[in-house]
Amino acid sequence: MNPMLQLTISFPEEFNCFKRRKNKGPEIIYTLEQKTSIKHIIESLGVPHTEIGKIFAEDKEVDFNYIPVNSQKITVLSITPPFDVTRPSFLRPEPLQKIRFVVDVNVGKLALLLRMLGLDAVYSPKYVDRDILYFSGKEKRIVLSKDTGLLECRQVIFGRHVRSIYPDDQLIEIIKFFGINGPFKFFIRCLRCNKKLVPINKKDILHRLEPKTKRYFNRFKICPQCRRIYWQGSHHEKMKIRLQKNGIYI
Ligand SMILES: [Zn+2]
Repeated sequence: MNPMLQLTISFPEEFNCFKRRKNKGPEIIYTLEQKTSIKHIIESLGVPHTEIGKIFAEDKEVDFNYIPVNSQKITVLSITPPFDVTRPSFLRPEPLQKIRFVVDVNVGKLALLLRMLGLDAVYSPKYVDRDILYFSGKEKRIVLSKDTGLLECRQVIFGRHVRSIYPDDQLIEIIKFFGINGPFKFFIRCLRCNKKLVPINKKDILHRLEPKTKRYFNRFKICPQCRRIYWQGSHHEKMKIRLQKNGIYI
């Protein structure tokens, strides 16, 4: 029979939102039947690995594959924002080339808001976990989700459990967390399908414009995929004011 292992694991307060009721509190005495990775141990307590900034076994920094030994003190730290995913870190030695997202259905409206800022965010209401994992693994995208089970998957290297409830707040949360700064390219991406817009002559789309749009706007773009027409309107201004109010450089 395998010997029983006992660990003392300390967590920051912000992880209480993940932990099961009996595990609340800054320190947990954790016993297990057999040796396993620290990733597995932490996630069995409810905290997805995507939320973790550093792990220490006693005073030594360790990675997700580390296998603790009996009576060790493990300290788990959260990520300190801004989280620059383009720089290597001890837990995530292979950084991302650029910031791109895949958005889960439970935070779908966030995808549209990210696109409004010109950011690359793939999303479909039809996505299942397998699709999200594909975009995370093959296209190296950051997973945005409220599903802790999905974020625990090994294929997900970069992700964020979105804390806020409302889409506008979620946008501010994500922009601040990943330290994304302007200048943002408003009006470059289709809100419906994430494709880059292309300019189009007003005279070529005149038949598709409402009378007021026809009168007040002259610069138009079109989505090469869904053919939706875009112009720089008041919703952009509202968004800019909101971002500025939250101290975000636009
Ligand atoms: Zn489109």
